[in-house]
Amino acid sequence: MSAVERRDRINITVSPKNSFDLTMLTEGRKFGLAIIEPNDYGHDTSEAAQDLLRTVMVAHLIAPYFPRVIETNFDISLDRFLAELYRHYGYQPPRIKRGSGQITLAYAQPTETEFAQIPNASAHSGGLDSVYRLMHFLQNGENVLAVHLRNLNSKGNFAEAKASQAQCLDWGLPYQQVRLKNSSGNTNFDTMRTRDLLLALVVALSAKPHRVSKLVIEGGMSSDPTQSHFSEYSGAWEMFNQMLLEVGLDLTVEGVDPGDIETVGEIIKLEKELGLEILPLVQNCFSAPFQVPNNRGKWERVAPFLAAKSPDHWCGSCHKCRRMTLGRIFYQDPRLSHLPKKEIDVFVADTYEWLKKYPHNRDLVSESFLTHLNELRH
Ligand SMILES: [Zn+2]
Repeated sequence: MSAVERRDRINITVSPKNSFDLTMLTEGRKFGLAIIEPNDYGHDTSEAAQDLLRTVMVAHLIAPYFPRVIETNFDISLDRFLAELYRHYGYQPPRIKRGSGQITLAYAQPTETEFAQIPNASAHSGGLDSVYRLMHFLQNGENVLAVHLRNLNSKGNFAEAKASQAQCLDWGLPYQQVRLKNSSGNTNFDTMRTRDLLLALVVALSAKPHRVSKLVIEGGMSSDPTQSHFSEYSGAWEMFNQMLLEVGLDLTVEGVDPGDIETVGEIIKLEKELGLEILPLVQNCFSAPFQVPNNRGKWERVAPFLAAKSPDHWCGSCHKCRRMTLGRIFYQDPRLSHLPKKEIDVFVADTYEWLKKYPHNRDLVSESFLTHLNELRH
């Protein structure tokens, strides 16, 4: 976790046109965070639920700076959330000051539409772990609403939005996309101070009209506050679940612990069991779109069978694509049943080389990755 350069005072204003459109000013720089689609976002949720979301959006904006004073043109309710965030990092809660140009907030209103009940919802990025969460419900014969929060991260947003939608269409699952306009500047590693809480809350508001009672997101939370960011800390989630009930969202968020290479194996099993094509639709390549053809070109030369059996939107070389290939080889993806031994050797040798050449990659891969890779060596 990197050190924080605290600010004394930060100004945050809400737009009179969209009460989920916040602008932050600090030291002459402007940052923003807004929900711009759907335009009736938050309907059928209480005013308190909508207030909570605004508060968490404020938290996401200020989290890089922990200002001592937050000046706003609207009332921040549920500032307990901010206080807990500050405490987690050893700071006194911020002072919230109402500045000039006060705005009366507009709240999304209930619609006439009666929505079908869906018991579960999942924060759905379109990547491997989120796909696995959806499949788990399908395996148990339960329906699940997939909600994609677009533009949450600094890159890969268009590809993820497209893939997550295509997946749900293909698998016959209800899907919603919520679109952020995100110039928060809170996108580096420390985004985990608040990111997953913001994500879960956005999904919770989308899920409410469907009377969802269980919401799943990626797990792996820690019970040690000194070793985890706020949105990775189980104590923060206990408080958060309590707040959801208080604002009438009537659902509980659960983290599903992600496996690593094993998850690829699980999905290969599920493809058979459910009769669905799953893996080729997964999108979690980390390469920028312009890098993909170049990376793929290499694999087409050195491992042509593997390249031909890997969809075009996978580069083959980033840590996510290597995780996928490793899992597919190890757990015998039927699409690779005729993969020549020589190409397996090429992949394994190249991956060891890649780990050696870029020490940073070593931090990105798990124990599970290294164990599986080592077993393929023999
Ligand atoms: Zn990739």
